[in-house]
Amino acid sequence: MSAVEIVTIGDELLLGFTIDTNGAWLARQLGELGIPVTRRGSVGDERAAMTSAVQDALDRTGAVITTGGLGPTADDVTKPAMAALFGRDLYFDEAQWEHIRTLWRTRRGTEPPEVNRQQVMLPVGCHVLVNRHGTAPGIWLEDERGRWVAMLPGVPREMRGIYTEELRPRLASRTGAAGHPIRSTTIRTTGIAESALPERLGEAARGVLGLSLAYLPGQEGVDLRLTARGIPGDVADERLRDAARLIVERVGTPVYAAGATDLAEVVLELCRSRGMTLAVAESCTGGMLGERLTAVAGSSDVFLGGVISYSNEVKERLLDVDAAVLRAHGAVSLEVARGMAAGARHRTGATAGIGITGIAGPGGGSPEKPVGTVCIAVDIAGQEPVAIRSQMIGDRAEIRFRATQAALDMVRRQLDPLR
Ligand code: ATP
Ligand code: MG
Repeated sequence: MSAVEIVTIGDELLLGFTIDTNGAWLARQLGELGIPVTRRGSVGDERAAMTSAVQDALDRTGAVITTGGLGPTADDVTKPAMAALFGRDLYFDEAQWEHIRTLWRTRRGTEPPEVNRQQVMLPVGCHVLVNRHGTAPGIWLEDERGRWVAMLPGVPREMRGIYTEELRPRLASRTGAAGHPIRSTTIRTTGIAESALPERLGEAARGVLGLSLAYLPGQEGVDLRLTARGIPGDVADERLRDAARLIVERVGTPVYAAGATDLAEVVLELCRSRGMTLAVAESCTGGMLGERLTAVAGSSDVFLGGVISYSNEVKERLLDVDAAVLRAHGAVSLEVARGMAAGARHRTGATAGIGITGIAGPGGGSPEKPVGTVCIAVDIAGQEPVAIRSQMIGDRAEIRFRATQAALDMVRRQLDPLR
């Protein structure tokens, strides 16, 4: 099989209320099998639209997976549409009807409603992809030229179950040894602009060792994803390792992790390995930094706690920030951030304190301190305290998140200056 196309079906997908996670999940799964996905699309529940989408896909690749529209309701017309496309009649499948009756009896203690009979009207000559997770069977339909469409239900849990148990083995046996799995590895960077990365990467900027390189900017920073396509598995793994090493070397300090690791986890591990403890004082982030740290299992041996010091009074009373300093420089200032970090550290007895104060907006900005102004300080025992003033971009939620990321990155760079 050279390639597969995916057509996801449902009005809700076109309206944007349902996000097409089925298509994304299937694409990743097919990648693991080494089957390229050459096109993905969504259509509404309308019969003509799905027919022409699948027809076009069949003309291009001869291999299509659909999801959705297999249910018992009137808007579920995938099966009759595909049957017509393949020139097949529908028949009532007794065995599948028994399967549904058993499900209803054991789960609900009643007979299924008549509309469920719809679900077992199957195209003549199809192969049933058994659904062990719900009522709608998946269907494999193939013509005499070997062109096929595999229909899966829209409900993600059922779709994943049928794919794994029924469709994947079928595709794997057809693909044989021809397909090489698509493999990838992610290198996470923060505190560097996307546009500054190619310069550091040099000739590796567009990929290296036959691997492609994708730049994925987000609130946490820019992830760099290396992907191997059409390369045998063991060779791909070795190249991914070598390429990742090269990229980490070239990019340097901004690299904080590989894979799906959160920066909070990296910082906790750095503290742990140095026998350090951590405390926070948060104003504009309102506890988000504490939340990110405590979301990591096992954080309690490093993270002691913190103060959400939203008002000046709390900054003074619980963190010992000098009232005169607050008056002279304002709550959003390097001086106050330093005072908060020191207060968090001394009040909790931690080795390191972090202070964050800023203007998350949308209101409260001024020409000198516009929305997005954030001051962050890190105060580590035995080191000179550091403080930065930064201009975060984005809306309120993004400014707050970026502030926590910048704070964590300051601690990381303080503790790991040689990277
Ligand atoms: P059912 O038997 O439940 O009617 P179905 O095969 O008819 O299943 P749909 O009616 O299209 O499937 O969708 C059922 C539910 O599955 C939707 O409400 C939606 O929550 C989810 N869903 C459908 N398509 C997708 C998709 N492409 N990605 C993620 N979720 C989806
Ligand atoms: Mg439905």
